[in-house]
Amino acid sequence: MGRKPFWLMICEAELEDAELFFKREIPCDFKLDRTPGRFPNKRDFAYTDGQCIYFSPKIKESSAFRIQGLVRHEIAHVLFMQEGTAHDEIDADNLALVVFGEPIYYDESDVQTTLPGISPRPEHLPNPYG
Ligand SMILES: [Zn+2]
Repeated sequence: MGRKPFWLMICEAELEDAELFFKREIPCDFKLDRTPGRFPNKRDFAYTDGQCIYFSPKIKESSAFRIQGLVRHEIAHVLFMQEGTAHDEIDADNLALVVFGEPIYYDESDVQTTLPGISPRPEHLPNPYG
């Protein structure tokens, strides 16, 4: 059995922080999705169905800040989806701020990060739940 990948260690640590915040378990898996064409745009890195957060294999070359920003944003989606609450991308970032105590920033490629950058979410980005 090999060492756990870096991106997965970060994801599990962030989920644990969310579980400590809510004082309960949050069922959520993390997987790579290698399906060709699944992440068509340069800024596409992750999505969730509410049970599992799927990452592009690009996550393996991403900085810790980017992985943290992405997974915190997706965990917020998971929380809303598991309680059946309609929400949008801004709501996800706002919930992530409350749970993790830091804003979700956007970097020069419009990807989520915890490294201070652009916040709130740039208005030109899609807001598919809104
Ligand atoms: Zn989102």
